[in-house]
Amino acid sequence: MFSVDDIQQNVPLSSFATFRIGGAAKYFLVVKTREELIKAVKWARENDLSYFVLGGGSNILISEKGFSGLVIKNESNGLKIGEMEDGKLKVKCDSGVMTAKIVFETTKLGYSGAEWGFGIPGTIGGAICGNAGRLGRETSQIVESVTMLGGDLSEKEIAKSECGFEYRSSRFKKNQEIVLGAELEFVKKSKEEINSVLNEAKEIVRQGAPFPSAGCAFKNYVVRQNDPLLLNHPDLNEKVRGGKIGVGFLIDQSGLKGRKIGGARIWEGHANYIVNAGGAKSGDVLELIKLAKEKVKEKFGIELEEEIRVIK
Ligand SMILES: Cc1cc2nc3c(=O)[nH]c(=O)nc-3n(C[C@H](O)[C@H](O)[C@H](O)COP(=O)(O)OP(=O)(O)OC[C@H]3O[C@@H](n4cnc5c(N)ncnc54)[C@H](O)[C@@H]3O)c2cc1C
Repeated sequence: MFSVDDIQQNVPLSSFATFRIGGAAKYFLVVKTREELIKAVKWARENDLSYFVLGGGSNILISEKGFSGLVIKNESNGLKIGEMEDGKLKVKCDSGVMTAKIVFETTKLGYSGAEWGFGIPGTIGGAICGNAGRLGRETSQIVESVTMLGGDLSEKEIAKSECGFEYRSSRFKKNQEIVLGAELEFVKKSKEEINSVLNEAKEIVRQGAPFPSAGCAFKNYVVRQNDPLLLNHPDLNEKVRGGKIGVGFLIDQSGLKGRKIGGARIWEGHANYIVNAGGAKSGDVLELIKLAKEKVKEKFGIELEEEIRVIK
């Protein structure tokens, strides 16, 4: 268990964020177990400090001003592969386990459910918080239950149905509740079926941006019934996939591909990626976010919603 002496001060955060942008944390602590994670939150509360849990830092933008409270770097890494029964496999894990480890351990045993997540950086806690997904699949599909730390500092286990999962969101993204661990379930599939999805995910990684980023800057656009966007732009009907339109296409159509502000750039390869092409400041990224929102609103009449969380 950590002691107060283990809490570091003025720790630069840029190397803990895939964007490679950001100032320092006033207080910074690495936790290795759930118990330490809980203790760290209690310490922050007792000292009247704001806090946030940092997983792999792959879905955040940290301001140069840094963070004036406690950053809790979650490296809790307990992982228990359960019994394989009736074609199902249960996995219990701490929230600091890397998503890549879950993908590796389950696919190796011939179980399906996480193979689409190959190449998604970060922790399973971050993936549950943002309901990370790709290839039409998402984290909520493998979650059976979550052990969480509530706002009242009570620890409880909640079912998937109570997690408030939505497209790239969950109850954990909307409040200060913390994912301590989860029980996940996987199903037996043939090697060919698993490899086919794994290979699709590998192809996405192969085509990824050659610059630091935090993945997609915006959520894709969810199409509603009688959506004015499609009524006003019927040509977009052919762009609807799984009830959504890729926002990268809309940003591209708004003429922003390759647009630079300072060291940040809307990536030419996929316009929903804002990249740090060298020495970008958080303000550069925020200005590109603002510009993309304005131009897409002007051209298509819709509001883009950020997928990344801004830490300031
Ligand atoms: C190259 C690249 C590709 C990507 N591809 C995809 C993709 O295909 N699909 C996709 O969905 N995302 C993608 N992402 C975004 C990102 O990797 C995922 O959202 C990832 O699951 C975030 O996990 P993390 O641990 O890095 O979270 P962090 O960035 O550390 O944190 C994100 C948010 O989650 C909160 N959080 C983290 N851990 C916990 C916890 N235990 N309890 C409560 N809150 C917590 C943080 O406080 C923060 O608000 C990509 C990112 C990059 C850089």
